[in-house]
Amino acid sequence: MSRGRELLSYFAGRAAEALDLLRRLVAVDSPTSDKAGVDRLGALVASALRSAGAEVTVLAQAPAGNALLAFLGAASPGSGAGPGGGRPALLLGHLDTVWPLGEAERRPFRLEGGYARGPGVYDMKAGIVLCVLLARALRDGSFRSRSPVACFFSSDEEAGSPCSRPRLEAEARRCRYVLGLEPCMPDGGAKTTRKGVGRVILEVTGVPAHAGIDPEKGVNAIEELAAQVLAVKLLEDASSGTTLHAGIISGGVAKNVVAPNARAEIDVRVAAPSEWRRVESAVLNLRARNPKARLSVEAALTHPPMIRTEAVASLHRQASRAAAEVGFDLGEGSTGGGSDGSYCAALGVPVLDGLGVEGEGAHAATERVRLDRIAPRAAFLARLLETIEGP
Ligand SMILES: [Zn+2]
Repeated sequence: MSRGRELLSYFAGRAAEALDLLRRLVAVDSPTSDKAGVDRLGALVASALRSAGAEVTVLAQAPAGNALLAFLGAASPGSGAGPGGGRPALLLGHLDTVWPLGEAERRPFRLEGGYARGPGVYDMKAGIVLCVLLARALRDGSFRSRSPVACFFSSDEEAGSPCSRPRLEAEARRCRYVLGLEPCMPDGGAKTTRKGVGRVILEVTGVPAHAGIDPEKGVNAIEELAAQVLAVKLLEDASSGTTLHAGIISGGVAKNVVAPNARAEIDVRVAAPSEWRRVESAVLNLRARNPKARLSVEAALTHPPMIRTEAVASLHRQASRAAAEVGFDLGEGSTGGGSDGSYCAALGVPVLDGLGVEGEGAHAATERVRLDRIAPRAAFLARLLETIEGP
């Protein structure tokens, strides 16, 4: 039997255990904003990893939930580290979901037609299960990784990881490369490029006045803002993949009052840093159309773009070979969404993301994950850790 097939049959033998863990993870609500819930999930994941032989450190933090750092295979020295030891490979995931408290009760874990359903099952509790399966396999000596294997779970990824990011970056800097266990492309492929994500906030201050008695004394902030929102939209550039989208708008105090204030929050996606610089400089140079209105603009690139460097391409080539040994094709693709992987990539650490289990419906009530793909994805990751060379 080929090595890939051997690993596949090992992980197929652990399917019941994987399913049971997935069920338990989905039963714990872990919305980003609820520290208690994220910490409950973190405790469950830490205990699963420890019983799979990993050495786990809970990274206490507030107001977000605690993050987790684990070294897989640590309980049996030598089994985790390959011949060379050295800088670890980093498996990356997150504990939080976009679903509110009570969702797991309203829409409980269930199996249906070869899929598992439930809040967070695809994004990304199935990815956490892969990590625990790998930990146990390392401890059992069922495979040997060429590098030590570290694993980091952030607790506020769905909000851009404001709390977890510094610790994640500290770990990522120590690592050779990052394998992201986030959901894969719709065809199962890895994510080798991600757009950068930015935020532009426009705030207009006008002058209030009675809309019927003396409107000429007022300065309407909503009208000013409306013009600015349309001006910003013109910065879109389809050929370079730059999009701008007004996602939140608010303003005014009453129907019969000339609006004294208005605010818009705009989502920006760019494929390259130069495009962000173009958008940033354009919005920072916006001037109020009405000289009596005051316009203030804030612009921030919250997730840098993840670019397909030669090191990333090499990771993907090696990953495709490992996948082929297990019996499937691993394509690759690009996504408009930012993730923790984007932060690691910005440090110059090669990232291959989207290695989670196939499914669909991230952030949607239709979310589901394919049960028959848990074992192949775990076998593929083990084979990749076993064979990877460089960077
Ligand atoms: Zn995710």
